[in-house]
Amino acid sequence: MPKSIAIDGPAGAGKSTIAKKVSAELGFIYLDTGAMYRAVALKAIESGVDTKAREDLIKIIDNINIAITHDDNIQKIFLDGRDVSEDIRTGEVSAGAANVAAIKEVRLKMVELQRKIASDKDVVMDGRDIGSYVLPQANLKIFLTADIEERAKRRYEELVLKGQQVNLDDVREDIRNRDNNDMSRAFAPLKKVPDALEIDSTSMTIDEVAERILYFYKNYASN
Ligand code: C5P
Repeated sequence: MPKSIAIDGPAGAGKSTIAKKVSAELGFIYLDTGAMYRAVALKAIESGVDTKAREDLIKIIDNINIAITHDDNIQKIFLDGRDVSEDIRTGEVSAGAANVAAIKEVRLKMVELQRKIASDKDVVMDGRDIGSYVLPQANLKIFLTADIEERAKRRYEELVLKGQQVNLDDVREDIRNRDNNDMSRAFAPLKKVPDALEIDSTSMTIDEVAERILYFYKNYASN
């Protein structure tokens, strides 16, 4: 059975950065599941479809081709054959992703793909429902949090570094809205499961968080 580490938590807690580091250390692949919901949202936006319109979105996912590649531990995501790894990182797509992610049919389709990837490769998967729904049998489950100010600041700095024109208040608002959506949806909401290890990264460095996860994995979860 391939090994898996699930990393869940609210937006901007550093899940992707940590998942990348931990996977590189262990020689696992890294799967950022948020990118898949973002790709669905991008397709809806480009097709002129409201990201909350359930019936239209069901049609969109019936005809969607999402492919993920890993080269040198760098994930790329392809939407209908086009590399959209950068295009999915805009504010509009972020907000749209949280909308499409509330639709059960969209989730079922993404989860099928996520489980397929985990069925033949060791993986560190990050998202919102990985430990609770996608991989309930994961070897290690992490619930990564940080306070909202810190998460907003980190996300803001990341976007600025990418050359995006953003302001901190908008970034904080986007995070707050997405968290509320994710925690309140009926199907596979964001929640900490009892067997997850909670790590509050507010005053920890990336290396400290990665080391703690590696320590737990190697000592308690790798068998
Ligand atoms: O992780 P990221 O912020 O890129 O995710 C974008 C959106 O996709 C989140 O706001 C959330 O609504 C949704 N998502 C989800 N379940 C996952 C991963 C992401 O609902 N496993």
